[in-house]
Amino acid sequence: MKRSILTDRYEDIAENLRLEKPYQAKIIYHALINGVTEFGKMTSLPKLLRERLSEEHGSLLSSKVVNRSEADSAVKLALLLQDGSIIECVRLSDGKGRYTACLSSQVGCAMGCAFCSTGTMGFIRNLDASEIAEQFLQLTLLGEPITHIVFMGMGEALQNFTAAMDAIKALHREDGFNISYRRMTISTSGYVPGIRRLSELSIPVRLAVSLVSADDSTRSEIMRINRTYPLSELKSALISFQHHQDKRITLEYCMLGGINTDRESADKLKSFMKGLDAIVNLIPWNPVEGMGFRAPSGKEIQHFESELKSRAINYTIRRSKGQNIAGACGQLATETRRKNRNGS
Ligand code: SF4
Repeated sequence: MKRSILTDRYEDIAENLRLEKPYQAKIIYHALINGVTEFGKMTSLPKLLRERLSEEHGSLLSSKVVNRSEADSAVKLALLLQDGSIIECVRLSDGKGRYTACLSSQVGCAMGCAFCSTGTMGFIRNLDASEIAEQFLQLTLLGEPITHIVFMGMGEALQNFTAAMDAIKALHREDGFNISYRRMTISTSGYVPGIRRLSELSIPVRLAVSLVSADDSTRSEIMRINRTYPLSELKSALISFQHHQDKRITLEYCMLGGINTDRESADKLKSFMKGLDAIVNLIPWNPVEGMGFRAPSGKEIQHFESELKSRAINYTIRRSKGQNIAGACGQLATETRRKNRNGS
């Protein structure tokens, strides 16, 4: 089965492609990260070698774009993988020249968060590091240089820890895409063992936690993970993360109408944040049919914002639809999958 070379060392590329001259691996790798995905177009390789590699391997891509959609400033790609699975990734723009890649780490997700359409798919499989890294390449092929990465697509990245970290290291490679760790953010539903493992690594990526509610019983109802790792354990893992990594954490707060936007929710949020260096990112929920929630009204949003202000809670709010796609892990609607299921 074909796989991307993006996470391979030059020695492995040379061996796998049976290159006579090892430096040719470097040429191929560099051509690929610069957007040349066909061996036939790698003019700095000898013609005979190009022909052999084209014949044996065709393209250097292992995934295929099967759908492309745009909302506001976001471009979403659905990628068909070698085993027939479909995953999604998004390129977000802030409109000021900054482009962010939002990547998936799994096909589906085991966490089953009630507000998330990916959660309804269940867990299908982990992606390997090269499948994660290739999403980044596919997004760069859209034509703009991407400087930031968020793991907020399908899946709980910290449950696919090794592959996610290998992909992160590959995308950080100085002789490759060279994305700074500080420009990478992992979003988690609150998978405490993963947060603890991340704390111990010397990979200074940023952390975002999909909090949704700072009340245990509400959170347990909406996010099953809270039944295993309640807020007290989550907070202790976050404190430990900050102790090791010294970084501000983002608390993603998906606003659900009538559920987590009242005064009491703001009080609980304030108390959860005590002792943490954190900023809240408010994300009005994107309605998904049949999920039993409603989007917060404009009035609810305004009211909650003023509750946060009066408690001196640092927050930002995502207002554009495109940015909402990457507001929290799993916020990628699995549109392509639904279309396939409905045969449209
Ligand atoms: S919100 Fe994240 S962790 Fe929860 S089901 Fe969706 S993808 Fe999984």
